[in-house]
This record gives sequence, C-alpha cells and structure tokens, in this order.
Amino acid sequence: MSLWISILGTGVAGGVFYFCLPWLYCRWNRLRLRRQAVRRACVVLTLDDGPGRRLTPAVLDLLAAGTVKATFFLLGRNIRENQDLVRRLRAQGHEIGSHTYDHLHAWKVAPWRCVSDIRRGFKAIDDALGVERGRYPFRPPYGKLNLVTLLYLWAKRIPIAFWTTDSGDTWLFDGSRCDRAATAVEKMGGGVVLAHDFDRESDEVHRYVLNALGAVLETAKKRGLLVSTFSQLRSVRP
Ligand SMILES: [Zn+2]
Repeated sequence: MSLWISILGTGVAGGVFYFCLPWLYCRWNRLRLRRQAVRRACVVLTLDDGPGRRLTPAVLDLLAAGTVKATFFLLGRNIRENQDLVRRLRAQGHEIGSHTYDHLHAWKVAPWRCVSDIRRGFKAIDDALGVERGRYPFRPPYGKLNLVTLLYLWAKRIPIAFWTTDSGDTWLFDGSRCDRAATAVEKMGGGVVLAHDFDRESDEVHRYVLNALGAVLETAKKRGLLVSTFSQLRSVRP
C-alpha cells in the first residue's frame, strides 16, 4: 500500500513540475507582455503557422500599404515549399520567429520529440535564409510548454513569445466579428495580436484574417498606438 502511495506521490509531484510550472510561467509571461504593450502603447501583429503560398503575400501587401512591420512565427514544414516567401519576409524587414517544424503539442508527445521539433524548426529557417543562426524568437504551438522544453529554451536564451489577443481566425468564422482583436486592442490600449497566415481552403477565412489585421491597424492609427515587432516591444523594460 505504502509503495503505491509513494508512486502516486511521485507522479503527482512530477506532474506539478512537468506541466504546472511551465503553465504558471506562461500565465506570468502573458501578463507581463500585456503590461509592456499597454505601458508602451504598442501593438504587435504576429502571424503563426505560415508561410502560406496565397495568404502570406496578401498579408505582406497589407503591411506594406500601412508601412508597418510584423513578426512571423513560421512552421518548418510549411517553409520547405515556400523558401522564397521566407526570404521575402526578411527582405521587407519583418521579424522572423519559429513555431517548431511539425506543430507538436508539448503536453501530448515525449519531451525529446518536442525539443527535436523546436530544433528542426530553427534549422528550416536557417536553410531558407542560408544562415546558421540556430535560434529565433519562439512561439510554442498551442501556447504550451513542458518543463523540458522550457528549460531547453532558457538554456539557449531563446525569447519565448506569447500573445495577449486572439484574432479568432482559427475558430471564429463569423466575418462580422473580425474586429474582435481591434476592439480588444482599443480597450486595453495595446497588445500582441495572434493571427495565422497559413493557407486555408476558404477565401472567406483569408478575408477574415486580412480584415482583422486591417481593423487593428486602423485602431492603432486612430489611437496613436505604435506598431512594432515582437522583439522591438521586448527590447524596452516595462
Ligand atoms: Zn500554431
């Protein structure tokens, strides 16, 4: 009986360290990010899961029209066919970050697979750009880290990038509500907006993404908010 109790105790303690500590860190990081964005009256547009052959160029045109820069957290498996787009992102002065290679969920697969996925994601960007940098700002898929991935990122001094405001483009397909992120940014006086630039079947979703980003840029202009990249926001202490 006591053996089972000690096994159970070890399992609970292990779970607290493996899942709960990274979860608490994520919560704290997001609160800090929000405070930084609001204090600096700053908006950051972030695009995950791209590049997408159809949507990414449309997003780039929108950003160019507003003469603003965004941060793209690229997915390694989408880079292979779109290396030219990665180079275009860099040429146009946008910030490039990584979102792993295969979008593995850090709570659902073995920790060594997660670390390997992170490293493959960095390498895919390096291969596209022809550099050997090996580290980029990192956005965890689903916003989830486990203890091993968190310690790995800390050890490598890799900036971990969360968000404060979800545009809803992967779950809210009601075009009339595409100003969701803009409303939140206006209310808070700043924020880090999450959107996605991978290609979808439906042009309607593409329109949603573009309208959502456009609405945020319009709000930023109206409220006098600074539009910056993720690293520019983080470069000033709150
Ligand atoms: Zn993602």
